[in-house]
Order: sequence, then C-alpha cells, then structure tokens
Amino acid sequence: MNAVSGRESLRRRGPALDVAVVGGGMVGAAAALALARAGFATALLEAREPSPWSAEQEVDLRVVGLAPSSIALLDGLGVWAAIRDARSGPYAHMHVWDAENGASIHFDAADEGRDLLGYIVENSLVQWHLWTALDAAGVKRLCPAEVRAFEAQDDRVQLELADGQTLAARLLVAADGAGSPLRKLAGIGTRGRDYGQRAVVAHVRTERPHQGTAWQRFLPDGPLALLPLADGRSSIVWSLPDEEARRVLALDDAAFMAELGVASDFRLGRIVGTTPRAAFPLKLQLATTYQAERFVLLGDAAHAVHPLAGQGVNLGLRDVAELRETLVAARDAGRDIAAAHVLRRYARSRCSADTMDALGFDALARIYGWRSMPLVTARGLGVRLVEHLSPLKRHLASHAAGL
Ligand SMILES: Cc1cc2nc3c(=O)[nH]c(=O)nc-3n(C[C@H](O)[C@H](O)[C@H](O)COP(=O)(O)OP(=O)(O)OC[C@H]3O[C@@H](n4cnc5c(N)ncnc54)[C@H](O)[C@@H]3O)c2cc1C
Repeated sequence: MNAVSGRESLRRRGPALDVAVVGGGMVGAAAALALARAGFATALLEAREPSPWSAEQEVDLRVVGLAPSSIALLDGLGVWAAIRDARSGPYAHMHVWDAENGASIHFDAADEGRDLLGYIVENSLVQWHLWTALDAAGVKRLCPAEVRAFEAQDDRVQLELADGQTLAARLLVAADGAGSPLRKLAGIGTRGRDYGQRAVVAHVRTERPHQGTAWQRFLPDGPLALLPLADGRSSIVWSLPDEEARRVLALDDAAFMAELGVASDFRLGRIVGTTPRAAFPLKLQLATTYQAERFVLLGDAAHAVHPLAGQGVNLGLRDVAELRETLVAARDAGRDIAAAHVLRRYARSRCSADTMDALGFDALARIYGWRSMPLVTARGLGVRLVEHLSPLKRHLASHAAGL
C-alpha cells in the first residue's frame, strides 16, 4: 500500500474517537459517560482535576436542586444511588411566597403522585461520582488539558491542545461552562442581560427544621431560597443587587444571621449558625446557536439562567439526554453522527426548549422586580389564581420536573 492509498483508507475509517467532550463539570462529565455507555469512543478533556469528594469534608457551598429528569439520567448512568446515599437532601414540598403582597404557592410531591420533588446535592459530589465512573466506561480522560484551537475537516474535527498535543474526533462537544472558550473559538455569539445581581450562598442552621421543604421568598431586591440539606441545615441562595451583596458578604456572622432572619421572614425561626459565604454573579446568557461544523454546545456553555427556578444544571442534563438520543439514532441509521442535519435536530430542539425556559425564568425575575403597587397587587392575584387552578399548577410542577 503506497502512502496516498494509506491516507485514503485512514480517511475512510475516520478518526479513532467519535466524540471529544471539553469540560468535565456536571454536564460535560455526564455527557462523556452517557456517550461512552451508548457505545461511542469518547474522550473528556478538563482543565482542572476535580478534588476527591469526601463525607468528612464540609458540605460544598455550591449545591443544586436535581429534578426527577436529572435523577433519571444519573440513575441510568449508574451513579445516582451512590450520590443519593453519600449526602443528599430530599424534598417533597416547595413553598414560594411574596414579601410584598403575601401571595403564596405551595407544591407538594403527593399532588403529582410522587414521593419527592427532588434532591439538593453538592455540585462536587455529583461531579466526582461521574468523574470516577469514566474509566470503567472506557472514556479517555485528558486532564489537565485545554483546547487552544480546533478545525473542522471532512470527516473529523482536529483539536490542538495548549501543551502541543493534537487529537481528532468526529464531533466536538463544548461543555466548558458559561465563559466557554470553545464557544468563542467557534465564533458563536450570545444574547441576554446582566442582572446586576449576585447570589450570596451559605449553609445555615435554623431554629426550626426545614421540613424537607424548599422555601423561596421573593423580596423587592431579589429572591431568597432556603434549600434543605441532608444534615438538617438549609443552603441559602440570596440574590441581591451587586452593591448589597458586597455589603452582606462583609457583615460579621452575627449581623449576617440577623439580616437573614428578617429576610426569611423568620419562616424557620432565627438563624443560629452559618458557614462562611460566597457570591456568584448572575446573568441571562443564551448562545445564538448550539451548533457549528462538527461542533455542539451544551450545559452552561449554551445557556446560563437565573437560579430562581433552580434549573440550570437540569437544563444541561436534558441537553445530554437529547444529544445522546440524536447521536444514537444517527449511528443506527448509518449516518455520520456529526453531519450538519443530524446536529440540527439536537440544536433546534434544545435551543428552543432552553430558550423558552430561560425567558420564562427571566420573566419571573422581572415580574418579581415590579415595585409599583397596582402591579404588585396584580402579581399577587396572578399567583393566587395559579394556586387555585390545579391543572395549571400541575403543569408548572411537571414542567419543572422535566416530565
Ligand atoms: C448560586 C447558584 C445556584 C444554582 N442553583 C441551581 C439549582 O438549584 N439547580 C440547577 O439545576 N442549577 C443551579 N445552578 C446552575 C448550575 O450550577 C449550573 O448550571 C451548572 O453548574 C453548570 O454545569 P456545567 O457543567 O455546564 O458548567 P461548569 O460547572 O461551569 O463546568 C465547566 C467545566 O469546564 C471546564 N473548562 C472550562 N474551560 C475549559 C477549557 N478551555 N478546557 C477544558 N476544560 C475547561 C471547567 O474547569 C469546568 O470543570 C445554580 C447556579 C448558581 C450560580
């Protein structure tokens, strides 16, 4: 075989890797595991090795509320039982109320015929269990690894890493977070807005138990959520204007707990203990498309949303499920998994679903930002109406669950 026909046969065979996933956060690690389990030769490239999770360490300040659709995906990947048993806060109720007009809405898992609405879990716990399952699934792990450049060619995308290594795969999947360097390299823009807010997070001990309930109070400056942790404490996500968040972060513990007690309307009594605090800037950011040549976006790289609905990673894990389904269908039909028309199915479906949800959360943020009295009263009437219209309320609950 001469050199030219050797290259030809290599080209026909294509690259050894089907998919290169960049970013090993919860979404990228779940994508790599899901695609490998579905039979695709997969690599995961991550810039920073995650620290091992241990039950001995303090609960990670970053927690998420996992909806039933996310739990089903993680269960199918064989990692959910270990995550749940390690440290997770189940909740069966959600209570949301308005500081300005007193209107409230209550969701109960039993009304949906389920035992639970979801679980509060640490980001690092989920990421760690996914990360440690990768080897057994045959995922080629490259860490630390950063992509410096990539180029789509006939049957592959060629990646150049910061350390000079090169790698080829049929498809490049960017799950590299809201700042996504790959999205920028692909020339994909974003739209959205900066909320001018930060989410202050901490774990707090309250005088009264959390009752397996996710509590959220809408205040004029932004929502305050108290999410039930496994150890009886509540994890707070307190969205505040930037300046106010900076002030609250700088308070001493006693002053912080006193202010938080007032902000929470003492729903769980006084705040009697707190961890150190951290804050995260909030923005709405939607990629203008989820697709380029042999390239797709998923997770926060595609969409960053306000945490008021607790849905960011849940949307990302729905992206994973849809991408897996799309690629499996293409392979089973004998198609190139990264052909533009194949990726379009994933990109259109998830982009429109994520956009609808993101704009819905944004509308809620705007509506709860209303300050004029007639609008505040109208908002209260709307919420009371939903509370009493069971079909609409059930629709909202099952949508949030991803059902
Ligand atoms: C305060 C707060 C509360 C939230 N609460 C909830 C909630 O209750 N429920 C919910 O569903 N969501 C919630 N979210 C959102 C959720 O945390 C995010 O949607 C989720 O963490 C995004 O995961 P990801 O894997 O897409 O991105 P990330 O977690 O950002 O992971 C990206 C990964 O890519 C890696 N990376 C970046 N660049 C490169 C590169 N060039 N090369 C290689 N690797 C790279 C990073 O190291 C990182 O590991 C909340 C967010 C905030 C801020």
